[in-house]
Amino acid sequence: MVLIYSNDKKLNMEMLSKGRELADELGKKVTVAVIGKSDTDPEEYIKQGADKVFVADTDLESFKVEEYTEILAGIIEKTGVETILISSDKDGKELAPRLASMMDTGCVTECTDVYIEDGNVTAERIIYSGNAVAVERFIKKPHILTVPAKLFDPLEVDDSRSGEIINEKVAYDESPSKILKVQQMECEGVNVEDATSIVSCGRGFKNKEDIKLAEELAKLLPGETIGCSRPLSADLKWMTEDHWIGLSGHKVKPKIYIAIGISGQIQHIAGMRDSDIIVAINKDPEALIFKSADYGVVGDLYEVLPKLVDTIKAKIS
Ligand SMILES: Cc1cc2nc3c(=O)[nH]c(=O)nc-3n(C[C@H](O)[C@H](O)[C@H](O)COP(=O)(O)OP(=O)(O)OC[C@H]3O[C@@H](n4cnc5c(N)ncnc54)[C@H](O)[C@@H]3O)c2cc1C
Repeated sequence: MVLIYSNDKKLNMEMLSKGRELADELGKKVTVAVIGKSDTDPEEYIKQGADKVFVADTDLESFKVEEYTEILAGIIEKTGVETILISSDKDGKELAPRLASMMDTGCVTECTDVYIEDGNVTAERIIYSGNAVAVERFIKKPHILTVPAKLFDPLEVDDSRSGEIINEKVAYDESPSKILKVQQMECEGVNVEDATSIVSCGRGFKNKEDIKLAEELAKLLPGETIGCSRPLSADLKWMTEDHWIGLSGHKVKPKIYIAIGISGQIQHIAGMRDSDIIVAINKDPEALIFKSADYGVVGDLYEVLPKLVDTIKAKIS
């Protein structure tokens, strides 16, 4: 049996489509685990591929990794699942290795693919900063894997599907830690992960004010979404972290990604390589970004951007 766990509905739906595929191939069932407060009707998971939803009956208000690890281990024991897909988000990254350690088994993190080969669950992940792909198999059960967002597309809703919803208490020890304060991260409410077009800015911009050149271009595209490389957010603080794209930022999959003044280091590429069309504007013809781009403009962004905006405006009118 395959188990899916995330406390984010969207990520559950994405993993569910892969879970369904693995389970069908192995002739097994898929269960979604729900722990703590959830606004999602368990039926929604069934309509999108689950055979069962196991709702751990608790009154937990917030995520505490010690408690969630014990509860998830309890669900695994009760349901006898063998393969567990956990979202590779902030909570999942903390939870999965602890769970593997508690269950004395292996954990493959940040999978870029999961499939069955020779009857075995097999996972791929990027290693050596993107220079190689490791293909890994488990030598023990259960198999624990973490899956980044946007890797798999959710299945279509199928109202005719039916399944089982289990509501049961699972024993756990109360965590010795207390949450004293929850503070909202500073952000501008930008959702780069769901954007259909992104105009992304790098260190090629000389001043914060110059970002308006990219904003002019973004205004001509659906969603007006601006992204950035790490230095603009983490070092220069020109943009909040919700704009930050890459390995340690957000993973995006827009229809069009326009990288302006971005060199194309692997840590940035890791976050945007799945975009449908990648356009790069860079004054260095040797810039790495051109290796990942479908279209490249070699030129100074301060000259290229105004011309591009004017040309698109003229075409639109
Ligand atoms: C563990 C780790 C995690 C990381 N995670 C991330 C991450 O999530 N996201 C991320 O982005 N980075 C990440 N980085 C940093 C990454 O390695 C690069 O340093 C970063 O992506 C570089 O940003 P940049 O391309 O904007 O800047 P630079 O590398 O400085 O490139 C600037 C580019 O702009 C071009 N340019 C300059 N002037 C102009 C002009 N006038 N017109 C046109 N082009 C111009 C230059 O030719 C150059 O190619 C990470 C690094 C580490 C070690």
